[in-house]
Amino acid sequence: MLRGKQRDTAIIKKLDEWRQSSPDWPRAIETGIRLLRLSIDTKARMTPPQPHLSRDAISSLLLKGQSILPFAELALDGPLLEETFQAAVPILTGARADTQDDSQRLWQLAANTPLLRQVARDYYNGTPLSATAVEHCIDAALLEDCLRAALAPFLWAHSEALSELVAQELWRRKSCPACGGTADFAYLEAEAGARWLMCSRCSLEWLFQRVQCPYCATQKHESLSYRTNTQGIYQLYTCEECRCYIKAIDLRRAGAEVLLPLERVLTADLDRQAKEAGYRPGSRPASWSQPAD
Ligand SMILES: [Zn+2]
Ligand SMILES: [Zn+2]
Repeated sequence: MLRGKQRDTAIIKKLDEWRQSSPDWPRAIETGIRLLRLSIDTKARMTPPQPHLSRDAISSLLLKGQSILPFAELALDGPLLEETFQAAVPILTGARADTQDDSQRLWQLAANTPLLRQVARDYYNGTPLSATAVEHCIDAALLEDCLRAALAPFLWAHSEALSELVAQELWRRKSCPACGGTADFAYLEAEAGARWLMCSRCSLEWLFQRVQCPYCATQKHESLSYRTNTQGIYQLYTCEECRCYIKAIDLRRAGAEVLLPLERVLTADLDRQAKEAGYRPGSRPASWSQPAD
């Protein structure tokens, strides 16, 4: 499976081919594609970050159940973060017809360098953004989406630098070993069918139990189920304990040429099916308001 720069190049090539034929994507996919492109383009402009710890130091953190990357270690280029945030605003507000008034306020927030850094830290550390959102009259879910999009390329660059140093056998937790985020996509590997999770924030991949909810961690067989599409390539794992779902792709059927970040976006119809059946994406807070698809 392609990774790193080669994968980015392959994704951009595909997106360019599609742009030529200008397919009429559903809005959820269109938004996801534009954000993915923004992430890849931004990542290409950065100096790749160097891991701040050795493999041994990383392993000792993992043994203690601690994620690797504290906010202070993130190489955040202020002007590039501001630019990426501002580029994400029209993509995300365009997807929500009722939030046009927020655009101006989001731009102002991004132009305030200390404030942008503070909300980026709050988002990263899981501190609720509701107080900042109220103070600046911005929809909290929209603010979180903009931060997610703005930080994604930075976190992704870090996770690419770290992924080879993560001793997978030391970590079977539901949070990301790099950034502490939750997963929003999974795949079953081509060889043995083991399940890997993919972080919703930094895109790091980590090995996880096949029969365990990646959100509430229940292992009760009767609470966990999955459904698969007719070709058996895509799966939707659901949990009755926390009513969350995660999408997955089976590489034993889909082949090795799969571009995971693109699959995560293109499978928007699985999100629709899951939501219609009453499940929510586990990588989002329960209070998160769903944008119209
Ligand atoms: Zn992560
Ligand atoms: Zn659960």
